[in-house]
Amino acid sequence: MSADPLAIPGPGLPSQSFQPPPRLLLGPGPSNVHPRVLAALARPTIGHLDPAFVGLMDEIKSLLRYAFRTTNALTFPVSAPGSAGMETCVVNLVEPGDRVVVCVNGVFGGRMRENVARAGGVPIVVESDFGQPVSVDRVEAALRANPGVKALGFVHAETSTGARSDAQALCALAREHGALSIVDAVTSLGGIALEVDAWGIDAIYSGSQKCLSCPPGLSPVSFSPRAVEAVRARKSPVQSWFLDLSLVMNYWQGEGARSYHHTAPINMLYALHESLLMLAAEGLEQAWARHAQNHQRLRVGLEAMGLELLVPEAARLPQLNTVKIPPGADDLAVRRALLHEHGIEVGAGLGALAGKVWRIGLMGEGSRPESVDRVLQALRSVL
Ligand code: PLP
Repeated sequence: MSADPLAIPGPGLPSQSFQPPPRLLLGPGPSNVHPRVLAALARPTIGHLDPAFVGLMDEIKSLLRYAFRTTNALTFPVSAPGSAGMETCVVNLVEPGDRVVVCVNGVFGGRMRENVARAGGVPIVVESDFGQPVSVDRVEAALRANPGVKALGFVHAETSTGARSDAQALCALAREHGALSIVDAVTSLGGIALEVDAWGIDAIYSGSQKCLSCPPGLSPVSFSPRAVEAVRARKSPVQSWFLDLSLVMNYWQGEGARSYHHTAPINMLYALHESLLMLAAEGLEQAWARHAQNHQRLRVGLEAMGLELLVPEAARLPQLNTVKIPPGADDLAVRRALLHEHGIEVGAGLGALAGKVWRIGLMGEGSRPESVDRVLQALRSVL
């Protein structure tokens, strides 16, 4: 008989609980989760239509409105990761034949283009180099050349490159040209300035695992009244049942009598609630300032080692630092040594940047002076 009372007997079956190794997560996400959030996750599961749970859902919506800086009624977390938030925005707003200007300056812009095409839309692609922000001038030219486009989609914080685009200017252009804006804020929410109402954003999605420092698996979204009107005015049903806002709305918004749509990931919502409480207690602007300060600390340390950042200074994301791999350094060997000898995860380059950069994330809980000092010291020793 096994000594472990939880051991599962059976040939070839694992019999031990999984114990994750200690890791400092300084990659492109997930970021480290605060013990308070982990403790929330471990609280007893209750029914997802229990009045106490419905109260929690209301609090989550209020906290998300705070984080997004919006009064949008339709603000809630989609029960799936950031990619599902992207898909929720696209499949609800884009109908077959709709033309959508999609900005591609990294991997996630490319994913949005693919989403638009799969929804039957016609993507009009505006490309910018990987590592550069979306070109506002090129977007303006595309909107002028294509009157009547349904939407403009772009990534605020391109995690694949570390570039920040000017969401305020891009959303203003969308309004000027009568297009809805679809904004990817997976990596920006909680890490840099983001103003859903003041910038006139129509549809926005994020992820729980980046600057909110919650485990992955939820995608906060928010829709302006204009976007909700566009969903209501659709000529064809949304092709995804699960992501159809007209159905999900009755679960997240039904006054008094919320109807079953799907079984919400209850414990994950406890966790999101806790991480949003922590963000509100710190203050959103203080969180933005903390991300900016720790980025500067990292930049100074990297430059002192002779390392260079890929993105021009004005467009750098403090929460995602793309470092050029110096000549002679072995990408994989360095990342392996950081992980196995120092317990630190940093990200590899993606797409066109594979093998050319490392991505050092300072997101949420990871954005601390101690984390910066640890990764700098580990890099010094490994290089
Ligand atoms: N958009 C951006 C900018 C991202 O960084 C990510 C994930 O890293 C996604 C979308 C997709 O999110 P998820 O991996 O949670 O599905």
